[in-house]
Amino acid sequence: MAIVQQSFSVKTSRRCEMIDITSRVEKVVAESGIRTGTVTVFCPHTTAAITINENADPDVVHDLLLTLEALIPQHRAGYRHNEGNSDAHVKSSLVGASVQVLVESGRMVLGTWQAIYFCEFDGTRTRNTIVKVMGE
Ligand code: ZN
Repeated sequence: MAIVQQSFSVKTSRRCEMIDITSRVEKVVAESGIRTGTVTVFCPHTTAAITINENADPDVVHDLLLTLEALIPQHRAGYRHNEGNSDAHVKSSLVGASVQVLVESGRMVLGTWQAIYFCEFDGTRTRNTIVKVMGE
């Protein structure tokens, strides 16, 4: 079995946004030479996340962020964490730190409308994404 790990940085330009990183992950998979296996995409931050969702209509991303904001407001009576970004920590845990995608014939097996998104919840920052491809 072969294992290839790479990372890349993601610059975010708003407090909350979702950035399509599919092509950057696809590049790591292609360069790994691995034909069949899995790829894990991991976010090593406590106020950001990784998810898979629709790439066709940008309004879907808008509505996801709108809904997270409505459910988890930035300011709320009772928050204790004194950095003032408790909402970002909650969103990070709910959305999750990683996704795993199957690799077949050297390509990710994603649905037609699926993209991998880096989710920023406390920007703007320069973030890191770790990609690990395992297989043969
Ligand atoms: Zn914090």
